[in-house]
Amino acid sequence: MRPSIRRWIPTSLFPHICVLCDQVCPAQANGDLCEHCRRGLPWNPARDLNGPPGVTRCVSPLLYQGHPRAWVRRLKFHQGLAEARLLGTLLAETVLDEYFDGCRNNEGGQALPDVLVPVPLSLRRLAGRGHNQALSLANVIGRRVSRPVKRRHVRRVRHGVPQRALSRKQRLNNLTNAFVSRPWQGERVAVIDDVITTGATLEALAHCLLAAGASEVHGWCATRTPEPHSPAAG
Ligand SMILES: [Zn+2]
Repeated sequence: MRPSIRRWIPTSLFPHICVLCDQVCPAQANGDLCEHCRRGLPWNPARDLNGPPGVTRCVSPLLYQGHPRAWVRRLKFHQGLAEARLLGTLLAETVLDEYFDGCRNNEGGQALPDVLVPVPLSLRRLAGRGHNQALSLANVIGRRVSRPVKRRHVRRVRHGVPQRALSRKQRLNNLTNAFVSRPWQGERVAVIDDVITTGATLEALAHCLLAAGASEVHGWCATRTPEPHSPAAG
């Protein structure tokens, strides 16, 4: 059932079912996971990361392995809207926890950025894939944190070679002048992406946004690849 239709049906008539174990989730549960499965996810032990240069703050709740990895791949290659809702909700909840330390007002918490910008795809990549997975995530997160999504403010003008097999330095070279941005008026911008690996994409985009007048850039990524030498990477 489409989420837009399901939203209008009372939860008492149509309870949430955990996407991993098919158990009915309690009414107060948030999203599509029961508490047991939620606890079993590969959470990122350092979810508030040191961002790459130019990035004020970087949040990534999950490791790119197991179920989150499968969700990202369905989101990316099969336009998985359920996965966008799942990952976007988990990321938004983590962001609210990290910025507001559990409370929902600004006291004691660092104010959220003003706008969200999904990492753009080049037109060529967009034509091949048919959608931008970062935009799908950003739409979910924007609703959760009450911030607008600027989907056309930044463009990717250079396609470059696929990043997967490149080192961090090669990735940065690959991304030089890859993005162009319309001017900003001192906004604080949160960049949204599905996976952070070396942080090179985030760094290149942050450089572009700051040069165009943004006052701060934050990185919110649903998953991060485990450190190469950590036990989780094995
Ligand atoms: Zn479950």
